Amino acid sequence: MINFTVGPVQMDEETRQLGSDQIPYFRTPEFSLIMKENENLLCKFFDAPENSRVVFMTGSGTASMEGGVMNFFTSQDKVLVVNGGSFGHRLVELCQIHQVPYTEIKLEYGVPLREKDLAGFENQGYTGFLIQLCETSTGVLYDMNMIGNFCCRNNIFLFVDAVSGFMADPVSMKKMHINAVITGSQKALALPPSMSFTVLDEKAVERCKKINVRSLYFNYPDYLLNGERGQTPFTPAVGTCIMLNEKLKRIEKTGGIENQNRLAKERADYFRSRIKDLPLKLFSDEKDSSNCVTALEVQNGQSAYEIFTEIKDKYNMWICPNGGELKDRVFRVGHIGNITKDELDLLVEVLHKVCKI
Ligand SMILES: *Cc1c(COP(=O)(O)O)cnc(C)c1O
Repeated sequence: MINFTVGPVQMDEETRQLGSDQIPYFRTPEFSLIMKENENLLCKFFDAPENSRVVFMTGSGTASMEGGVMNFFTSQDKVLVVNGGSFGHRLVELCQIHQVPYTEIKLEYGVPLREKDLAGFENQGYTGFLIQLCETSTGVLYDMNMIGNFCCRNNIFLFVDAVSGFMADPVSMKKMHINAVITGSQKALALPPSMSFTVLDEKAVERCKKINVRSLYFNYPDYLLNGERGQTPFTPAVGTCIMLNEKLKRIEKTGGIENQNRLAKERADYFRSRIKDLPLKLFSDEKDSSNCVTALEVQNGQSAYEIFTEIKDKYNMWICPNGGELKDRVFRVGHIGNITKDELDLLVEVLHKVCKI
């Protein structure tokens, strides 16, 4: 099977090797050291300001989306939530469930947020802004510089779900005025699903301490306190923490996060250049598209979901189907994880066989 989805993605040999080891006991100075290294490297790769911290959550990306909404916002806030697809919609649902007063900015799917969409929200007393870096369901990459500047001049707390975008697209907490940002283990980090990570700047740390959430497992101040000695309040996915450590150090040794961004862009550009003669249209403009994934709209009347099924059953490859209203129109090809150019060539060959011209 070749896996071209957006997660779980194909793991590196080094990660797979670690996966066969026994899981060590973790309340030890040795494990604490690993976690402190993980914290430092994640802060570095997100270009986090001085004194930033990381919450290591055992739970998939959605756990940290929910943890963030619970720990950074209350019924006293007034937040803007951008809904450009299923992950934006999830942020809206979380605000509803946790009774955070919100205004939804609903975008046409495949279209990015523009400056004009924000014009009416200047100086309106908003205190929070929730958005993805890459809306994985449509492949749209949001203009985080524009959004960060809007939040900065309006003194708005910016919470970014970069679960899929991290490593594929550039992200800098400092330059983009991001206060808290999350990623997950099974996306570009190419580890097993199990954990998600939130980087908090000083403002985010202060915010969650003041709010003091009514939850045992999602109590961020508790994670931060334990984290001071390189520990977590409860048993983490220890194996994933160890794989994360090896992966982050390997990234550091091989050209850093910039090199990871470059490799993802190379894969995305190469794949997009090779499908131009197929009856498939980029779902978002190339200039608004993330390097993480290419969403393709089928132009010849075939069902996108049937194309996914045929490629899976006949050719042993997974592309990524869409859900909901896009199920029959759109499928996606991921560019994160350990994907080679040869594998992309194989996929293009198969697409030529399956998509009738
Ligand atoms: C994958 C993903 C998540 C997390 O999904 P889980 O299934 O909970 O890991 C969150 N946000 C985005 C943008 C994603 O792509």
